[in-house]
Amino acid sequence: MRNWGQSTLKARNPEPIILLRADTDALPVQENTGAPYHSVHDGVMHACGHDMHITTLLAAVRLLADIRDHWTGTLIACFQPCEETGTGAQAMVDGGLYADPDKVPTPQFVFGGHISPELAGTVSLTHGTAYARSDSWKATFKGRGGHASRPEACIDPVVMAAFAITRLQTVVSRVVPSTSLGVLTVGEIHAGKKSNIIPNDAYITINMRADSDDLAGKMEAEMKNIIEAEVKASIPEYREIEDNPTPPNPEFERLLYAPLLENKEPTATDIASVFQSVFGEDFNGFASIVPSSEDFQVLALCNDKTKEIPYCYWRYGGTSLEKWEEAGGDVNLVPSNHSDNFLPQNDPEADNDPLKSGTKAMCAAALSKFNLVGLENIEISSTV
Ligand SMILES: [Zn+2]
Repeated sequence: MRNWGQSTLKARNPEPIILLRADTDALPVQENTGAPYHSVHDGVMHACGHDMHITTLLAAVRLLADIRDHWTGTLIACFQPCEETGTGAQAMVDGGLYADPDKVPTPQFVFGGHISPELAGTVSLTHGTAYARSDSWKATFKGRGGHASRPEACIDPVVMAAFAITRLQTVVSRVVPSTSLGVLTVGEIHAGKKSNIIPNDAYITINMRADSDDLAGKMEAEMKNIIEAEVKASIPEYREIEDNPTPPNPEFERLLYAPLLENKEPTATDIASVFQSVFGEDFNGFASIVPSSEDFQVLALCNDKTKEIPYCYWRYGGTSLEKWEEAGGDVNLVPSNHSDNFLPQNDPEADNDPLKSGTKAMCAAALSKFNLVGLENIEISSTV
């Protein structure tokens, strides 16, 4: 993926080198927004707003190119695929994104932002851990299929899965401290084809979020412990003697992993103070961690993975004032990312349009690091 999706714009001096990133992928969702510009592909929708990320990055590059006599440095515009699968950033780095400095030099700062269901025109930034770690697993229960009328001759994987799903809910309630963020969702369950057949196996997929690697490790261990124990509990004692072999242990397959995203100092405070001056009271500089996850930060790992490039990742709101007020200002009551109704405001005339705030945030972050020529006395907010 090395040659996929990045371009560089160089001014007179190669440094500082700033990478601005937009993820580009859509989701397997049937769009239900009714927007005149809705997806024309059945079952495929930009339900996470990555189309806005592409647009804001293109606009930022255009604006920065228009004033390129006023800054020096190198701007890398990175259009990254496969964020939703958590694999795109890693594939670009592994594919040698920074391998040839003449094409894409290793950046000194990596910046990006995500559209969110908060009020349009607002921008927020979390200091420290900003996005949770995410781990997805597939767990397969192996039973012994047969006739539905003779369960005593079978080992029913559907029952195993059902009990396991219920008990998995205790991972969050009994393992995750009340002061930490931990989420566990069973997103899929698949088993069987007919009501009068007990199937041979069943599988579930599990997604877990955590605000630390330590907690993620504990949740993973307990998830596996519960599933293994449930399988054991599903096989009657006498069956182990009568039927040999006993059903095998459950199988675990890791489907997805996204690391923690941590806005570290001093970059977080640097960008927060820039955004404070650009967005004023529309900027929330101390937003809390969100349980969703990202692979943006993987672009901040150098080739040898031993050194991390300073990075910062923010959010900008996309819900129109009208929808926001209808929901009583409750962010949980407006359609959010991954919903088939997720439709950020799109009003080019409005000052608070998210395409403008998203673009402005990117330009401001880049300009705060570039060497400015003749812009020193100009407010970044008026420049962009
Ligand atoms: Zn997204």
